[in-house]
Amino acid sequence: MQSDLVIVYHRQPYEEVEENGEIVFKENKSPNGIVPTLKSFFGNVDKGSWVAWKLAEDTSNPDFEPVVEIEDKYGKYNVTRLPLSAEQVRQFYHVTSKEAFWPILHSFKERYDYDPVDWPNFREVNWRFAEAAAAEAAPGALVWVHDYNLWLVPGYLRQMRPDVKIAFFHHTPFPSADVFNILPWRKEIVESLLHCDVVGFHIPRYAANFVSVVQSLTDADVTERVRVEDDLISEGTALTERAVATKLSIDDREVIVGVAPVGIDMDYIQQVAGSEDAAKKKAEIREELGDCKLVLSVGRTDYTKGGVQQLNSFERLLEQHPELRGEVRLLHVSVMANRAMTVYQEIQSEIEETVGRINGRFGTFDWTPVTLVSRAIPFDRLIGYYQAADVAWITPLADGMNLVAKEFAASRLDGDGALVLSEFAGAAVELSSAVLVNPFSNRAMDEAIYMALQMPEEERRIRMKELRRVVDKYDIAEWGEEFGRQMSRVKRGLPDTD
Ligand code: UDP
Repeated sequence: MQSDLVIVYHRQPYEEVEENGEIVFKENKSPNGIVPTLKSFFGNVDKGSWVAWKLAEDTSNPDFEPVVEIEDKYGKYNVTRLPLSAEQVRQFYHVTSKEAFWPILHSFKERYDYDPVDWPNFREVNWRFAEAAAAEAAPGALVWVHDYNLWLVPGYLRQMRPDVKIAFFHHTPFPSADVFNILPWRKEIVESLLHCDVVGFHIPRYAANFVSVVQSLTDADVTERVRVEDDLISEGTALTERAVATKLSIDDREVIVGVAPVGIDMDYIQQVAGSEDAAKKKAEIREELGDCKLVLSVGRTDYTKGGVQQLNSFERLLEQHPELRGEVRLLHVSVMANRAMTVYQEIQSEIEETVGRINGRFGTFDWTPVTLVSRAIPFDRLIGYYQAADVAWITPLADGMNLVAKEFAASRLDGDGALVLSEFAGAAVELSSAVLVNPFSNRAMDEAIYMALQMPEEERRIRMKELRRVVDKYDIAEWGEEFGRQMSRVKRGLPDTD
């Protein structure tokens, strides 16, 4: 049986673990919120499929089945595992995606390196993803492709299956034409994306950047702009433009460029946050802290997350406010997701050195200013930290959305806690009641963390109430619904609901 919904995402939706000589499929524990979110969409269809890659060395066993059926709390679905050699993975993922695309998407031009890219390999891997999706999709099915490492899939898939609806969602930022057009393959990428029915982004600014890139490279026309009707985007945020969808026409095709900020699973987080385990964890953390205030910072080890800049700001805070010494502790969670890549090893070393310096300069026998955690904290435990923190300090230099900021607000059943959030996280568009800060300014960074630590309880509660209202209203279910609304505007095989 073919599937009504095919999700194409490079990573597998589970972990394979060997137990008593048998391979069993376990829930994916990777520090990345997308996978469970996407799996939850299988609950809405008769049959779903997922396409991912798997190391070919692990598939040489003659019993290897490229397509397996999985049954978990999200229902039954197929997973196609495309065997890729270690060299293909290195080229496709580490070199092309992480060294060429990732810096461009986050507007870090100086970190961009395209000379080592093997473009024919990137094309081939994308072609194989498209073939696998074409094989799984029922007539008129929806194929939902995720993220930049599969940019060429829509164009290839359209050649193979003119009947299917294709949607593409970017989980990253999308830069302005000045930056994007540095990519030598810009036209090929954009032309592929223009074979989608819907191209989605988290926030209006990324969508507007995409439209301007399209206009700089093709003859596509903007035929319609749909403006936001509700209070999704607060007034006064300088970074927004109030369009949620733009219709483009190219040749005889229509492409909807849509905006849908990904949300969190509010019900699940509230359930965990309200559990006895979470209360115990919070109490343990608070006891360990004594009278100290806890500032919590959570992210991956990546130059885009601004970890070093944040630690430097914490050092200045202790320098400029000696009264805070012994009174505040920073828990800096910086998860090394990609240990094999030099660039991440360098950032990690820089983070470790900075933490060492701060602790060496200010630490005492009974007070360690910064605790660095480099391993992922299991999500349920993380919620205990969110609940115990006085301030969540989330200051990426660029970030598509940032779920941590939303999870922090969702966890605060007590209605307290201050959030300091970078203006350059997509989440800032919705979370304008946070203390928004420009992480490129030392002075702004230093003032924001000091202000959050001094914030009167009443103000914290007013801001938190609004943050919680927004994350509740625009949760993951709403993301799915917004996506559904955009798909319902697609003319291919469906009546137009306009
Ligand atoms: N996370 C986790 N344990 C950790 C650190 C992070 O479970 O120790 C999770 C976090 O709860 C969030 C995700 O990892 O759901 C990170 O998502 P985010 O959008 O903030 O950043 P990304 O890593 O996708 O850039």
